[in-house]
Amino acid sequence: MMYIVITSDGEVLMSNVSLEGLPPYRLHYYRVASPAYVEIVTDMLREAGAEVNVIGRSIEGRTIRHVMIPATEEPLVRVLIVAGIHGNEPAPVQASLALARELLGIGEPNPSFDLRELRRFTEVSIVPLTNPDGLFRYYSSGEWRSPGWERACESCRVNASFVDLNRDWAYLTQPETRVLHSLLTRVKPHVVLDLHEFYARGGCPPRWANETEGFLVTLTDAPYAWVAPEIRGVSHDLMTYVGKVLDKGLSPWGPVKTRHFSGGGSGEEVVWAPPNYLGTHAALEGSTKLLVETWGVGLGEWMMCDRVTTHVNACLATLEYVARHAETFIKVKEAWLKHDETLTNKASSRTFTLEGEESEVRKALKVLELHGIKYEEGTDGSPVIKLPQTGVTATALALLDSDCELNKELRKLKRGPYLLSRYCRVRVKSL
Ligand SMILES: [Zn+2]
Repeated sequence: MMYIVITSDGEVLMSNVSLEGLPPYRLHYYRVASPAYVEIVTDMLREAGAEVNVIGRSIEGRTIRHVMIPATEEPLVRVLIVAGIHGNEPAPVQASLALARELLGIGEPNPSFDLRELRRFTEVSIVPLTNPDGLFRYYSSGEWRSPGWERACESCRVNASFVDLNRDWAYLTQPETRVLHSLLTRVKPHVVLDLHEFYARGGCPPRWANETEGFLVTLTDAPYAWVAPEIRGVSHDLMTYVGKVLDKGLSPWGPVKTRHFSGGGSGEEVVWAPPNYLGTHAALEGSTKLLVETWGVGLGEWMMCDRVTTHVNACLATLEYVARHAETFIKVKEAWLKHDETLTNKASSRTFTLEGEESEVRKALKVLELHGIKYEEGTDGSPVIKLPQTGVTATALALLDSDCELNKELRKLKRGPYLLSRYCRVRVKSL
């Protein structure tokens, strides 16, 4: 057995020496991972039975990997877990790798879950590191060696083009977002788990959140307008369940106070939110979604074990819920497809065309293509986009129709719209 040893300087070494007597969990998950470490561990996961593929590369050429852990029987439900979108949020990266190890049976058995049951009908896809350039900068900076508010490393949140990848889901301008979006289109997950860390109070070491910030974990479902009510409902149910599990004490913080952001199930209050977040975008395109965040930005390696374990437990609780409600998730996806088509005027379908310089129109069409929105050539050679289009109607309307309900509301809130014309110099005309 090959072991990975991380020295106190954070250097990754390979070793054949037995580490008997050392607690492996702390050894592995206590530290901030480097992109190189993620490659080593994902190679180990491949040897243990996962399907591991390089699905793309970052701007600086680092690999973005997809770890697929197949169902042990016929897969019914697909879960996609996304980590490492922000380079200064290290715990989810370690957590997603730890989860994969758990599911593949590497390391100690988990006493809380029957992991074979969790995998029986569920295919688990994991992207442990979406923004390797950001994490590389964070890792190389060494700022994680001790906690401190001044070490939040904002500059490592973004990718090498200084773009926040979790605000790039409308136009998909970055290679990292494009890679992830194309995976999303391929996998068509029933559930997307979006793992992050959040900012808390400053000071060195950072202080515990006070009573006004009395939460250590934040869970957010999909309370957004335009998301199919069935998806909102099941996202809410999933969030409630995961919150309960964490509050029960499976999190190392003991009974944690989970903060929930939610508009609730169907019929309850909904939030108008821009479609440029992974969480809104994935929900609009048919995935039940849960955002899990632990307090972690600026903490460096402080309480790393606790933060990682909380994320792992949130993932395991999700998989447990999915295993028990597989049929619900399948039905919800069907309901969403119907809902998506009804977003266009019921009486008539919509048709749009684009005007502008050829290069700008091409740029706009590329965005549509990346989203899987189809167009044809009109009699005068200009593109014609007809809606509804199964599964992408919501996204298409957000990009094309300035007067659609979503854009109207976002304009009022000064949080949008995210029309194509914001990204390239094209005029969209309704035909
Ligand atoms: Zn984040």
